[in-house]
Amino acid sequence: MSHPCLTCGACCAYFRVAFHWAETDAAPGGLTPEALTEPLDPHRVAMRGTWGDTAIRCVALRGEVGVATSCDIYAQRPSPCRDVKASWEYGAPDAHCDRARAGHGLAPLQPSDWDGVAA
Ligand code: SF4
Ligand code: SF4
Repeated sequence: MSHPCLTCGACCAYFRVAFHWAETDAAPGGLTPEALTEPLDPHRVAMRGTWGDTAIRCVALRGEVGVATSCDIYAQRPSPCRDVKASWEYGAPDAHCDRARAGHGLAPLQPSDWDGVAA
């Protein structure tokens, strides 16, 4: 069975993804492409597409939410993305995961969704 996030992507099209600008490649050692971000305040940037008046969808998200998705910059994704825990991946539900999925009409993950998923 494939990782449940690969057929979801809801959190990448639900939350504002904000982080310190020093996580971008504009700073020494920064990873996240600055070109995919926009300034949020003097210290923080946000992934383009994850805030504002339009429908939220990160510019780096590929595919269709709830069907098949991937992140264009997975290895360079910022800390908020690394901090997201899918429900039951580590033995407990996660309110953020459940909320994002609900926002896209998807049921919360269950422990059984991890059966057969390689660690
Ligand atoms: S909402 Fe949950 S299941 Fe969906 S991609 Fe995010 S962490 Fe994975
Ligand atoms: S950078 Fe990748 S993991 Fe983070 S919100 Fe965008 S698509 Fe999702």
